[in-house]
Amino acid sequence: MAQPTAASHIMERIEFLTTFSEDSDKLTRTYLTPSHKAAGVQIGHWMSEAGMDVRTDSVGNVIGRYEGQSRNLPALLTGSHFDTVRNAGKYDGMYGVLAAIAAVSELNENNERLPFAIEVIGFADEEGTRFGATLLGSKGVAGTFEDTLLELVDVEGVALSAAMIDYGLDPAKVSQAACSPENYLGYVELHIEQGPILIDQDLPVGIVTAIAGASRFSVTVDGLASHAGTVPMNLRNDALLAAAEASLAIERLSLDKQETVGTVGQLTVIDGATNVIPGKVEFSVDLRCGNDATRQSLVDAMEQAFSSIEQKRGVSFETTLTHEAPAVQCSDQLISQLANAVSRKGYTPLQLLSGAGHDAMALGAFTPVSMLFVRCGNGGISHHPDETMTESDAIAGAEVLLDFIRHFDTPAS
Ligand SMILES: [Zn+2]
Repeated sequence: MAQPTAASHIMERIEFLTTFSEDSDKLTRTYLTPSHKAAGVQIGHWMSEAGMDVRTDSVGNVIGRYEGQSRNLPALLTGSHFDTVRNAGKYDGMYGVLAAIAAVSELNENNERLPFAIEVIGFADEEGTRFGATLLGSKGVAGTFEDTLLELVDVEGVALSAAMIDYGLDPAKVSQAACSPENYLGYVELHIEQGPILIDQDLPVGIVTAIAGASRFSVTVDGLASHAGTVPMNLRNDALLAAAEASLAIERLSLDKQETVGTVGQLTVIDGATNVIPGKVEFSVDLRCGNDATRQSLVDAMEQAFSSIEQKRGVSFETTLTHEAPAVQCSDQLISQLANAVSRKGYTPLQLLSGAGHDAMALGAFTPVSMLFVRCGNGGISHHPDETMTESDAIAGAEVLLDFIRHFDTPAS
């Protein structure tokens, strides 16, 4: 890739897109808002400059198509999302869209046509910030955008269907966004890692093996509230100490298993007071793993740990499953093609798990998927204005993508 033109385009464009925001003092761009629509138009303009035919589908995804050696060939799909969380970082999603446009731009400038088409997609909604349901853009493409989603409302009471009409979309035509699997060869997405592994390994890129599945629980511990001064330590049924012991058990069990993370992110002492032994505690559990059987064994082990804590401390646990999603495996053949591209560019082809959800989760139902993570700075902070990446890492990722595209071989099914 010509340097530094293509790369500085990526960084400049990421900066420019921060001006498309609902909030004047921070980056917030949620699904179907005026700033979201304007950002989509701008992205379409850049796609068009890079030699692509641009369309907006019936859920608001912006898609640029770069034809292959003849028209109407099946396409390799690449891209990411252009919506954000509130008070977002500017690279999450945007980088994957702009690196893909840069790669196609390079092909176009060299007049290179490949034995397949390339479609670059800017997914309209991945974060689910406005309507609380994630992956609406990629669900549209995969044909899994259910009509019931149209009834969701935002905090101001605006229904998704009404927001679509305001935007210029027809909610009755959502299903038209679904693409036919036979017209697609696979999906590759570049995305900032949103974590510290590549920093730790001193590598600019890494190849994703799977997107973790998740189990989330809400847990209530019932003990016995009593006077903090009068009840001796050995006669207490302290619900907070039981929850603390449960949290430590989740840490120990997650450490014991491969590629598994477990988090207690919320914990509340109900009616807690300085001079009262905690009688009731509620906490959340989030367990993630790239392998569904391992995740299930972690859930089982957690429940066993809870029951031994119940016996030991004379408390009771009520555990409710609030969310469950299976892991999505990346295509082995695309992983190995990405590894070859990474090696050709002179980097060690490190493989890693994605603990966060991505558009590839929804697309896994539709076409073979793969992802390349690119290193971010600031310890891997993301979903925050301190999110960052270097220009040289942005270039490295785009160069690997271009090399991957030039050597792309359709995965055999
Ligand atoms: Zn993202």
